[in-house]
Amino acid sequence: MNLTNRFAAPIGSLTAAAVFAVVGAAPARADAPLTVVYQGQSIRFSHIDSKGGAPAIGVNDPGFATLLRSTSSLLTWKPGERYVLITTSVPTVVSFAIGDRRYDIGPIVLQAAFAPYQRGSEAFLPLNEVLRGLDLALRDDGATKVLQPQLASLEVRTLRDRVTLLAHGGAPLRPRVIAQSSSSVTYAFDGVGTALIGTRQINAGGVRSVQVTVSGTVRAPVTTVIVALQPGASARPPQNNGERDVVLAVSAARASPQSLAEESPTPEPEPSGANNAGNASDANATANGPATVTSVTSQASDAGVTVTVAVNGNASFAWHRLRDPDNRFWIDVKNAQLQGPPIDQASASPVISMRARQIDATTVRIALTLGQPNTITVTPSSNGLQIQVGNDAVSDDAARSGSGTIGSVVSSGEQNPVPVTPAPADNAPSDAGTSDGGWKFGPRSSYVPTNPRLIVIDPGHGGSDSGSEHGSLKEADLALDMAKRLRDILVARGWQVKLTRETDVDVYAPNDSPHDELQARVDVANKAGARLFVSIHANAFINSGPYGTTCYISKPEDVPLARNVEAQLAQDGTKDDGVVKSHLYVTYHTRMPAVLVETAFLTNPSDYALLASAAWRQKVAQEIADGIGQYTRAYPVSNQAGQ
Ligand SMILES: [Zn+2]
Repeated sequence: MNLTNRFAAPIGSLTAAAVFAVVGAAPARADAPLTVVYQGQSIRFSHIDSKGGAPAIGVNDPGFATLLRSTSSLLTWKPGERYVLITTSVPTVVSFAIGDRRYDIGPIVLQAAFAPYQRGSEAFLPLNEVLRGLDLALRDDGATKVLQPQLASLEVRTLRDRVTLLAHGGAPLRPRVIAQSSSSVTYAFDGVGTALIGTRQINAGGVRSVQVTVSGTVRAPVTTVIVALQPGASARPPQNNGERDVVLAVSAARASPQSLAEESPTPEPEPSGANNAGNASDANATANGPATVTSVTSQASDAGVTVTVAVNGNASFAWHRLRDPDNRFWIDVKNAQLQGPPIDQASASPVISMRARQIDATTVRIALTLGQPNTITVTPSSNGLQIQVGNDAVSDDAARSGSGTIGSVVSSGEQNPVPVTPAPADNAPSDAGTSDGGWKFGPRSSYVPTNPRLIVIDPGHGGSDSGSEHGSLKEADLALDMAKRLRDILVARGWQVKLTRETDVDVYAPNDSPHDELQARVDVANKAGARLFVSIHANAFINSGPYGTTCYISKPEDVPLARNVEAQLAQDGTKDDGVVKSHLYVTYHTRMPAVLVETAFLTNPSDYALLASAAWRQKVAQEIADGIGQYTRAYPVSNQAGQ
C-alpha cells in the first residue's frame, strides 16, 4: 500500500464539491510557444497545440521536461503505448489514456477538456489537466503567465468532537494564523492560489463553516481559510514545517470524559488476514476513548536509533516488517489521532527515514525505512512506545509482526513468528472447518504426491496469448517474471520447481484452444505428481477502479494453501481481496492443492505502478513463497508419500 497516496486522496473533501475551475487563458494562437513563470524560473513550452480552445502539451517538449524535473515528477510513455503516466512527488500516479477523455489522479477519475492524442510520434496531453495533476494552475496577470502552486485540496474530516482540515498543496504549505477570536480563526497560505473558493457548512466537531478566498497577485497569491467556530470550540495552532500536507485541527467544547468515550469513532475492522492477534486488545483500548499521538522523535546512539512515540491515552498497536531487501518497518497505533502535521524526516543510521501519518480516521502509522534488516525491539509503556533499532542484522526467522497495548493496560502482546496466521497443529484431529480466530481451514488433501518435493508454478498466458496489456506492461511477461522470482526463492529453500513455461511461449501450441492450453498446464503438474500448483497472473478490468490481490481456488483442499498465501500477500502492497472460489480450469483440474494468484490490476494506475516495480514483484514472490512454506509446515504430506 502506498501510505502517502491514501493520505492525500481528497475523498469527501471540498475538492469533490468544488467546481472545476477554468484555469487561465489558452495561448493566443495554437502552436505558438508559451512562456510561463514557475517559482521565479522562466519555462518555455514549444510543443504547444490546442483542441477546442484548450491548450495541449507534447510529451517531448523540453520545457515540459524542465517542469517535471522541477516538480520531481516522472513521465512514462513510449510511442505506440496507450497510457501516459505521470508519477508526482507525492507520489500520486496521474494516468492519461490516448483517445479517452477520462483521466485519473490517484484514485480519482476525472474528465479532461479533450482526449489525449498522438500526432506523429508524440503524445499530446491536455495541459490544464496535467497541471492539475501537479497541483499547479496556469494564471495570467496580463503581463505574465504564471504556473501557480495551488491549495489543491482541503479535506474536511469530521469526527464527533473534532474536525481536522487536511490541506494539500502544490508547494510546501506554511499556514499563518492572521486573525483569531472566540468565533473564528483565519489562516493565510502564502504563495498558493486555489480553485476551492466558497463556503462549506460543517456544523460539527466545533466548526460551523469553512470559507476559502484568494487575494494577492497572480505571482504572489494568498489563500485564506476562515474557520467559523461553534461556541466553546478551540483551534490548535498549525505546525509550520513546510510540508505539502498540513493539518489544521479544531476541537469542540470539552464534554465529560465519559461522553467523549461514547462519542469516539469506532475503529475500522481489522483487514482480514493482516493480523488477528491485536483484535481483543483493540476492543479494550476502544472502550477507554481515543488516544493522541503527541510526538514521534528519534535519537541516535552507539546502539542504534531509538524512536520514541509519545501517546496520551489508551491504544493498541500492531507492527509489521518486510523482509530484506525491502527493509521497511511500520507500526499502526489504533484508536489514535496524530497531533500536528504528518512527519517525514531523514534519520541517522541504521534508520534511513521516519514517517508518521494519520492513515485513516482512527489509525496513526509510524513507518521506518532501514538500511539493512536490523534488529527491532518494540517496548510499550503507559505513555507510549519505544522502538529500538539495533545495528545488528535480524535472523531470517525472526518475527515479522506483533501487537500489544499502550496506556493504562500495557502489554507487548505477541510477537508472531514467521507464520502470521494461526495454523492448525500437525496432529489436529480434523482440519475440516476448523475455526481459529476467524480463519476457516479447509480439509487436508487426500491426494498423495508422487514427488512431494516438487512445486509446479504456472506463469499465466504466453506465446500467442499475451494476456492483458496496458501501457508498456504485458501480463504474460509479468507472470513469467514473478514465477521465475518465486522459483529462485523456492529452490533456495530446498524445493524442486518446474515452470509450465520458461519463456514467452504457448505451453500446448501456438494459437491453440484455451482448453488445450490450460489442460497442458494441468498435465505438467498432474503427470509429475507435484505437491502443489501455483498459477500467477495480473488482473484487468474495463475501468481503472478495481485494484488489489485475489487468490482463486476451486477445490476444498485448495483453501488452506490459498489462505496461507493470501495471509502473506495481505501484509502490504495492494489491497487484499481475499480468497475466491471459482471454477477456473487450472485450479479445478489439478489433482493437488492449487491456487491462482491475481497479483494486482494492470488497469488501475496505483496497481500498475506496483506491477511495474521489480522490487514489488520480488516482494510478491517472497510472500507467495512464505505462504507456501507456512502451508507446507502446517500440512505436511503423510508418511506413506515417501518423504
Ligand atoms: Zn490472466
